[in-house]
Amino acid sequence: MSSALPVVRDVPALRAEIAAWRKTGLRVGLVPTMGALHEGHLSLVQTAKEKCDRVIASLFVNPRQFAPHEDFDRYPRDEAGDSAMLAGAGCDLLYAPDRAAMYPAGFSTNVIVSDVSTPLEGEFRPHFFGGVATVVSKLLLQALPDAAYFGEKDYQQLQVIKRMTRDLDIPVEIVGCATVREHDGLAMSSRNAYLSADERRVAARLNHIMHDAIKAARGGEAITEVEAEAARHIAAAGFASVDYIAIRDAETLQPIADLSRPARILAAAWLGKTRLIDNMAV
Ligand code: AMP
Repeated sequence: MSSALPVVRDVPALRAEIAAWRKTGLRVGLVPTMGALHEGHLSLVQTAKEKCDRVIASLFVNPRQFAPHEDFDRYPRDEAGDSAMLAGAGCDLLYAPDRAAMYPAGFSTNVIVSDVSTPLEGEFRPHFFGGVATVVSKLLLQALPDAAYFGEKDYQQLQVIKRMTRDLDIPVEIVGCATVREHDGLAMSSRNAYLSADERRVAARLNHIMHDAIKAARGGEAITEVEAEAARHIAAAGFASVDYIAIRDAETLQPIADLSRPARILAAAWLGKTRLIDNMAV
């Protein structure tokens, strides 16, 4: 059993803890999360621990990145369980602000990152990256860690955060960490808990279809053809619908005609009421 993890719930308490560490010259890492933690989140904590003397995890289900029709109310919440997992992974501090601490009355600022936010997720969840960029810029400025750790699972989000941090001169190193997968290749996600047993079986097909698409693209098949074929396979596997499956420039996420530059395949598809996303290097 690991001992209880200290928790702070507002900015002054967070900064007081960090200031004490800073006095002795310690390097500080931050891992932002929305909780309902799994091995994917813990891998970020482990990577942070390798590079930092102290690691903070934040837990905040950010209302601004959910549209009114999305799953904010039913998003899984288990602070006690999350805290125990973080303590077991060697995390040093939990920062769990409530909504009023993060967005006090009168809060009126929105951080909008253009270009890289626009395609893919930006088309299907137009509110999403504004909410993410706003909360992540706040978390980075509240903690001012040396480095902050994000999963490649949310690849476009990682690119948006890198762009925002550069554009706003936020003095924090942004580190991307590889996607952690289940045994059958399904990318771990807090939303996998929504899946029925049948949906869970279908969900595992997504990563195999993406692997096949990568092979076809590398074999010289036209990218638009590869994308169309992969979308057909996702539908045939039993997904309710496909928001997108696309091979894009790995940095800008704009369409590409060939693989002469680093590329990424990204997908979003629905199983019942659950939306899954995944991506891989091509
Ligand atoms: P979330 O709690 O879903 O907002 O995720 C918090 C952080 O964990 C984000 O940086 C995610 O990209 C990362 N993450 C979520 N799932 C995984 C995974 N399967 N592998 C690696 N990182 C992940």
